[in-house]
Amino acid sequence: MNKKIWLSSPHMSGNELKYIHQAFDENWVAPLGPNVNGFENELQNYLHINHVAALSSGTAAIHLALILLGVEQGDEVLVSSFTFSATVNPIVYQKAIPVFIDSEKDTWNMDPGLLEKAINDRIKTGKKPKAIIVVHLYGMPAQIEKIIDIANKYEIPVIEDAAEALGSKYNGKACGTFSLMGILSFNGNKIITTSGGGALISNNDEYINKSRFLATQARDNAPHYQHSHIGYNYRMSNIVAGIGRGQLEVIDERVKQRRANHLFYKEIFKNIKGVTILDEPDNKFYSNFWLTTILIDPKVTNGISRETLRLAFESENIESRPLWKPMHLQPVFEKHPAYLSGCSEKLFENGLCLPSGSNLTNSDKERISKVLNNIF
Ligand SMILES: *Cc1c(COP(=O)(O)O)cnc(C)c1O
Repeated sequence: MNKKIWLSSPHMSGNELKYIHQAFDENWVAPLGPNVNGFENELQNYLHINHVAALSSGTAAIHLALILLGVEQGDEVLVSSFTFSATVNPIVYQKAIPVFIDSEKDTWNMDPGLLEKAINDRIKTGKKPKAIIVVHLYGMPAQIEKIIDIANKYEIPVIEDAAEALGSKYNGKACGTFSLMGILSFNGNKIITTSGGGALISNNDEYINKSRFLATQARDNAPHYQHSHIGYNYRMSNIVAGIGRGQLEVIDERVKQRRANHLFYKEIFKNIKGVTILDEPDNKFYSNFWLTTILIDPKVTNGISRETLRLAFESENIESRPLWKPMHLQPVFEKHPAYLSGCSEKLFENGLCLPSGSNLTNSDKERISKVLNNIF
């Protein structure tokens, strides 16, 4: 059997161990330490943002952002339906209610028209939404300017989930830096990884200081352990932050490699009827193309569906995956309010994520091409 080609696997730069060795030499084997501070500073410089808190996961970052905005039991939070469940779960940790917003077809992210409709409708029922979480899925920037304009008009704070979008930009500005707070993830399959980790980013130092306080068990300023708030153990460890520093050194190269994968697929699909590849709607959008994603219309392809292709890849030991199943269709969330157009449902029905790692080799790409040529 040929070696497995993964959808997106960790890709080390080779410099990670240097930072980990430093931590061992100085015995900083702890949560917090010089690598955490270094990683935070380096992220700030890369993103052009004032403050970063390195945390144990992207999910933890979303949870803290909601707490900082005062989201509590019974509050409603408007959130993209087309996303990974980690975007939504922290809303439920707070005993608040997720209200789902469907996608628009150009970026597959939150539809600004439906967002405004939902805000008006929720206000009419007597409850103004407490926050909005907008996702930049697969690295494609959402229509973020429009969404921020609407949120400002109704004075509702926005959190950007940029877990999949480190290196993506809208109008030259980094995803995650448009709103009050943004979140990043460094899970194993993301564009850079710390094996597991995340960050909360903001231009507001109060949010970030408070997030660090809450993330270290909310310890008051006293020589003994004193607590006036409920805290969490959400900080990043100094060891994994070392991996992050080694990874961030090569982020530009990683974005370049993922964008090259996208071009590779675009070239293959340009003459295949019934297959469309998600692409930047115009030159304001700059995607890291964390994953290259396609839609297959079986009515045009003589019955070849995304499942036909997925199974063909699987038989060659190549991983591909259906697009995210929208949250409003998940058994655990199906009773929640949702503002829908049918867009994300269609995406789930016909969409596939293709192998997109920055470590794909030429021979991997040959094997992928061969499967695609056989099928189409
Ligand atoms: C990965 C991911 C998260 C969660 O990040 P973790 O670090 O795995 O907790 C949140 N949102 C989206 C869209 C993601 O892809």
